[in-house]
Amino acid sequence: MFFIIRRRRRKRKPLTAEQAAEVERLRAQAKAALPPRLAELAALHGFTYKAVRIKHNVSNWGSCSELGNINLNLNLMRLPEHLRDYVMLHELCHLKYLNHGPEFHALLEIVCPGHRAYQRELKSYKLI
Ligand SMILES: [Zn+2]
Repeated sequence: MFFIIRRRRRKRKPLTAEQAAEVERLRAQAKAALPPRLAELAALHGFTYKAVRIKHNVSNWGSCSELGNINLNLNLMRLPEHLRDYVMLHELCHLKYLNHGPEFHALLEIVCPGHRAYQRELKSYKLI
């Protein structure tokens, strides 16, 4: 017997018209800026992913599937460049390790030196 544990999704508060417009601005910026930057970082460090999609969710800045698909949150456009790169490098490292174990962090430290400080800094930003 086994159980399927579903992570409960955080419900999004309804967006105001202003916030909705801001989200669409961020989406357009993200679609233009993030895929080329991800491709650049992947080429620089020898990662190969399958596809990249821009998402709007309140649960993560990015994600990586077993199949090698990377999702990036349009909220990344609200971050300073070094944190945006940190999130993309974090997801690229998940192509090799689909967990947050010591090997994952060792690899991330090679491609993104000082990543633990970036991880802490990222916590001061909230997803909208
Ligand atoms: Zn992760």
